[in-house]
Amino acid sequence: MKRNKKACNADHRKLGELLDLFSFHDIAPAMVFWHPKGMIIINELRNYIRELQKERGYLETATPLLVKKELYKISGHWEHYQENIWSLKIENQAFALKPMSCPETVYIYASKIRSYKDLPLRFSEFGYVHRREKSGVLTGLFRVYGFIQDDAHIFCRPDQIFTEINNVLKLLTKIHKTFNLKTSFALATKPSKAMGDLKLWKKAENSLEFALKKRKLRYETRPKDGAFYGPKIDVDVEDSLGRKWTLATIQLDFQIPSKFNLFYIDQKGKKQEPVIIHRSSIGSFERFIGILLEHYNGSLPFWLSPVQIWIIPIGKQHTKYAQDAMKKFIKNNYRCELKDTNETMSKKIREGEIQKIPYLLVLGDKEINTQTVRIRQRGKGDIGAINIEKFIAKIKTDADNKRF
Ligand SMILES: [Zn+2]
Repeated sequence: MKRNKKACNADHRKLGELLDLFSFHDIAPAMVFWHPKGMIIINELRNYIRELQKERGYLETATPLLVKKELYKISGHWEHYQENIWSLKIENQAFALKPMSCPETVYIYASKIRSYKDLPLRFSEFGYVHRREKSGVLTGLFRVYGFIQDDAHIFCRPDQIFTEINNVLKLLTKIHKTFNLKTSFALATKPSKAMGDLKLWKKAENSLEFALKKRKLRYETRPKDGAFYGPKIDVDVEDSLGRKWTLATIQLDFQIPSKFNLFYIDQKGKKQEPVIIHRSSIGSFERFIGILLEHYNGSLPFWLSPVQIWIIPIGKQHTKYAQDAMKKFIKNNYRCELKDTNETMSKKIREGEIQKIPYLLVLGDKEINTQTVRIRQRGKGDIGAINIEKFIAKIKTDADNKRF
C-alpha cells in the first residue's frame, strides 16, 4: 500500500497514542492492548452493528476460542489454511485457537433438527479470532495476530440465496455509507487450491453474480481469488485519502454443510442440505478502527468519539456550576470530562483541539449569570453561548451527530 503524505500525517499508530486509545507491547507481539477510550470506540461500533442486525432478524451467538484441532480437519481449514492457524498441545490433545467462527457455528445449527420453516437462520458473532501472519506484514492495527471479527453465518435453503445475498448487500452499503466510505464490489472466483466439485462452484459463482446484476451493482471479477470452500463477493471501500480497502466479504458455501452433514427437513419430510452464506460488514474491528482513524484524521464522528464534551471552568469559583452542567450531560448519556486543572484557558482549549474533542464548553461569571455555556465546536471554533438544556437538545438533533 502506497502511503501518501496526507496518510502519513494521519498515521493511526500516532493517533492511537495521542488520543490514548491503544498500545502495543513486546510481551504480546502484534496484539492490541485496548485502553479505556479505545474500548468505547469498539463498543459503540459493536452496538451500532448489533442494532442493525437485530432489525434484520440476526441472532447473536458466541463460540469458544480454543477448540480441538480435529474440527479444522473436518472443515478443511487444516488442509488449506493451516499456516494461519495457531495450534498447541494440552495433555497430549491437539488444540487450535479459532481463526474464524464458521465451523463452530455449525454445531449450534446442528444442535437440533431444523425444518424448512426455520430457515433462514442468521447467526452473528463478534468473535475473537487469532491468525498467524508473517511478521513482516504486521503494521499497527492493520494486521494483528488477534482481532475481533464482525461475522455472520446465514443458513438458508437454496431458494433463499438471492434474497439473503440481496439483503446482505443492502446492509453493507448502508453501514459503509454511515462512515462516508464509497463502496465497490468484486466477484472472486474458484482458486486453484479449493475443495468441492466444479459444478457446485459454478452454481455458487452464478448465484453471487446474479445478485450483483439484479441490484444493478457495478463489479469487477477477480479470477481465482475466492475462499477454498466457495466463491465470494469482496466489498471494497474507498477512504478520504483515496485508498481502497477490502473491508467485507460475502461468501457462498456449499462445502461446509456437506462436510458436517448438515440438513433440514423439507415440506415432504425429506432431509435436504442447507447453504451457508458467510458475511462480515466491517471485517476486523481493529483494522476498521485503524482505517477510520486515518479516514477522519482522528476526528471521529460525535457518536464514536470516546470523549464528546470537555467542560472548562474559567476559575475555581466556577467549578460548582461546571459540575452541575456535567451531571446534566452524563444524565443524557454523553461522555464528558471536567477540566478544572490549573493550566491557562488557552492551553486547555489548545489541548482539547489536539484531542479532537467535538465540543469544548467554557464557563465563567457571564455564563453563570445567564445560565448558559460558551461553546467551541470542533472544526468551527466559537459558536456562541447557549442555555444548557437547549444545547443538549441541539446535540441530540444535529444531523452530524447521528449514526444513521
Ligand atoms: Zn465464516
